[in-house]
Amino acid sequence: MSLPATHERASTDPVEVLNRVFGYPAFRGEQQEIISHVCAGGDALVLMPTGGGKSLCYQIPALVRPGVGVVISPLIALMQDQVDALHALGVRAGFLNSTQDPDERRAVEAAFRAGEIDLLYLAPERLRSPSTPALLDRGRIALFAIDEAHCVAQWGHDFRPDYLALSELHERWPAVPRIALTATATEATHAEIATRLNLGAARHFVASFDRPNIQYRIAPKNEPRRQLLSLIRAEHPGDAGIVYCLSRRSVEETAAFLAGEGLTALPYHAGLDSRTRAANQSRFLREDGVIMVATIAFGMGIDKPDVRFVAHLDLPKSVEGYYQETGRAGRDGLPSTAWLAYGLADVVQQRKMIADSEGDAAHKRRLGQHLDAMLALCETVECRRVQLLNYFGQKGEPCGNCDTCLSPPESWDGTVAAQKVLSAVFRLKKERNQSFGAGHIVDILRGKRTPKIEQFRHDSLTVFGVGEDLGDGEWRAVIRQLVARGMLTVESNHNTFVLTEASRPVLRGEQQVMLRRDPPKPPKPARTRAA
Ligand code: ADP
Ligand code: ZN
Repeated sequence: MSLPATHERASTDPVEVLNRVFGYPAFRGEQQEIISHVCAGGDALVLMPTGGGKSLCYQIPALVRPGVGVVISPLIALMQDQVDALHALGVRAGFLNSTQDPDERRAVEAAFRAGEIDLLYLAPERLRSPSTPALLDRGRIALFAIDEAHCVAQWGHDFRPDYLALSELHERWPAVPRIALTATATEATHAEIATRLNLGAARHFVASFDRPNIQYRIAPKNEPRRQLLSLIRAEHPGDAGIVYCLSRRSVEETAAFLAGEGLTALPYHAGLDSRTRAANQSRFLREDGVIMVATIAFGMGIDKPDVRFVAHLDLPKSVEGYYQETGRAGRDGLPSTAWLAYGLADVVQQRKMIADSEGDAAHKRRLGQHLDAMLALCETVECRRVQLLNYFGQKGEPCGNCDTCLSPPESWDGTVAAQKVLSAVFRLKKERNQSFGAGHIVDILRGKRTPKIEQFRHDSLTVFGVGEDLGDGEWRAVIRQLVARGMLTVESNHNTFVLTEASRPVLRGEQQVMLRRDPPKPPKPARTRAA
């Protein structure tokens, strides 16, 4: 292991360390308070959005306090980068994880025991082997930093069982201060982190989760790749961005599509070999204007300040995931776009994935609640930002910088339309013991005599042709919103709809259904690229 020139522990003044080692003139937000609290030996739980500057909150106390700061992080793939970045600043740091050979590991262990490093990054699974606590006992520990602390929360979206063992740190080393940090925490996750890590008595620092420079937009999905291409050409030509897709196949196809249009787009997913992944990640970080098309395997811990847009071509499974992924845009504070394309097929697919998933009823209920919150954000007619902040238990004013603020969607009384859809589903089940997907239900309502309608004699249903007042797209939007609200659901192992309890009051005429009117389909872009 190569160690940089020894960092002189010349000062116990955090501001001096900030200036001299990190080269920054001043602390941001609550950094100073957090750092002096931890330097004084206090425990802290820090909730701060991505880009807020969490790393300094433990790095500086690790330099100021005697001993080695031990950082628990699940981001194994990034440890080398993090340590390299510290070396470049002249900070002595090392890491221990499963990617190392025994020689490298022994060198880091020796440096730790001799107190020759200031920061030691540890993968959480290292703590499972008894050799790690034994090693830690033989050195002097300045503090424990638990990064990505939401990984301890089973309620959250990124649970890692190894994190549960972190509660033992305090029992074994009661005098060592602990600082847990996360960029994603609803009140439920926040409470769970505090309980599971035994941080009830710690000071909690909760920064605002607002990212004012990010413009949130959620658009109806028609032709997602074309829509994305128009967005990039019109608003982000030459910019770096991240495009999230659900499946590996869709990642590959989207990257190929964008590349075929002359853009620098690279794929990233867990199915690629590690060399390709590392090469693509490094081009994204080092070159200008690279678009990374990725599954959510990409991005955690990536510190690229000038990502100008984050696009989702598929619906995220939770608001926490959405917030974390979109949060990778605009860390430099400059205007950036978070754009999501969302449609009926997304809702159907996700409901089905939950219905078909393994796991007990409680697990499915939790997944369902995560999805419901995400759908509520998609279907809202109010400010997206206010809704996001509310989700995290924070207040906000309509922002003027999201799609719903900029062009407020109309809402309309969709009670009768909802009743038509629900009674079509009801009659199919009751009279024929059948269930169908959206396309066929729309055909029935619109009275189309398709071969399938003839085959099933659905033209004899009383609901046949009762919905000529709306177009196909409008009916799909009605169905989407009914699924989003849980009045219709998807049968396990099928793509067909069934009613839920929640549909009854609507069918009985006891409940009004206000719906969101989707903005009209944008005209086909007239702009083409200059030849
Ligand atoms: P987080 O972990 O909260 O996402 P980081 O710790 O990676 O955020 O910090 C985000 C960026 O802001 C980094 O490039 C970091 O160097 C920079 N930064 C952090 N604190 C300050 C500060 N006080 N002054 C200037 N830049 C800072
Ligand atoms: Zn707004």
